[in-house]
Amino acid sequence: MSAQGGLHAPLSMQHIQMSARFLQKVYGNGVALANLPGQRRVPYASQEELSALRDSRLRRVVRYAAESVPYYRKLFAALKIDPREIRCVEDLNRLPLLDKSMIHKDPDSFVSTSWLGRKSIPFLTSGSTGLRLRIHHDPHSLLQNIAFGEREREVVTALCGRRLGYKEIYLGCSQWTITKVWDFYKTWTFLPVRPQRIFISMLEPVERIADAINQFNPDVIFGLGSYLELLFRTLALNAIRIHPPRVLSYGGDSMTPEGKRFIEGQFNVAILSHYNAVECFKIGFMCEQGDHFHLHQDLCHIRIVDPSGSNAPIGRKGEVIISNLINRGTVLLNYRLGDIASLSPEKCSCGRNLSLLSELEGRVEDILFLPGGIIIHPEVIWSVFEDRNEVIRYQLIQHEPLRFELKVFTGDTQIYQRLIGGIVDDLRQLLGSSALIEAHYAEDLAEVTTSKFRPVQSNCKQCQLQ
Ligand SMILES: [Zn+2]
Repeated sequence: MSAQGGLHAPLSMQHIQMSARFLQKVYGNGVALANLPGQRRVPYASQEELSALRDSRLRRVVRYAAESVPYYRKLFAALKIDPREIRCVEDLNRLPLLDKSMIHKDPDSFVSTSWLGRKSIPFLTSGSTGLRLRIHHDPHSLLQNIAFGEREREVVTALCGRRLGYKEIYLGCSQWTITKVWDFYKTWTFLPVRPQRIFISMLEPVERIADAINQFNPDVIFGLGSYLELLFRTLALNAIRIHPPRVLSYGGDSMTPEGKRFIEGQFNVAILSHYNAVECFKIGFMCEQGDHFHLHQDLCHIRIVDPSGSNAPIGRKGEVIISNLINRGTVLLNYRLGDIASLSPEKCSCGRNLSLLSELEGRVEDILFLPGGIIIHPEVIWSVFEDRNEVIRYQLIQHEPLRFELKVFTGDTQIYQRLIGGIVDDLRQLLGSSALIEAHYAEDLAEVTTSKFRPVQSNCKQCQLQ
């Protein structure tokens, strides 16, 4: 009897777990499929329809924030604003702007205490100002994003010439946000018919990346803009032959206009960009015209403000302020994203009616080029600091190909002394055992507020592309 009971108990437990996983996937596919119809038509809807959709989503997220997000509960009470008074995006002017430092100081006060908030998944921002933030995304919005992605896939599939069976390579690092999102989709959905897709580490030498491209023969290569620019320039300069993809798609940071023209000419490839951030996964995307972003204005409202925080006129450059209308994990309304851009008054010839944003300014990162053909993007350096929450800000400066200065600010020197040995060891793993890393405590990093600050800086660009 006891042997029988012993056999049956774990089996039934396993059965329950399998059923729960199965039901979770049914739910996941249900959410994605329910949002799918009409997604490809949304970019062509009229401005009136898009505004109505955007404002109804705004009213829902504001009500949700006032009920379940500690920061907004206090804010509405302090400002004596009835959340029902926020009815359209113009009403967002009544709420203050949020700085990254506010989220950094108390990330939990921006996370909903609702069931969705508690089930939400934490992601770390890339820390383009050297300050990494923890942003939660709830499962429902992550699943909706599968459907919203159809708007961007329409452009990619048109350029590839087919909707199914095309091949994608993602060039990134193992801590990349997208790999975490994929892991989430694996546990929450039955994998639908997706493009064939492989992942290659940016830490591989250029020759090995070229071999992988030639072996897989992709239609699309995704990666960070500044990294892809340097990679393709290096391939061209060293006459390393690759089978060029039809589309090169970058996000995260930018390419220079010269780099873009060079790659398009040399490799006969279409270059696209998508505008996203960990704070909001769907902000905008480039269409086949490729010179501006179409904004997902019903998913993420964008304001451009001048230095005083007032709305800048259309066409005038200013700071990008976002309000994520979809996410129910970390709720961000009127959030300073740290980018500079302008809204465009023009209408795109592609027929999409989504508002236009100019190419982002100042998003081209400094890349470290190491002897032996290794290209290191700042995102890879950030991974060293990912779990070291006591590091408030850092800067790595490449003075010579293998000589680096590391500046670290931790709040007090005792924490610095405790951490610095491990940080330098981890950096040496990336930069090579012969790298000379001079580390010091840098209180001046506390004062950094400008969006022009670069946590990774190369002073020996002449050693690149040789
Ligand atoms: Zn267009």
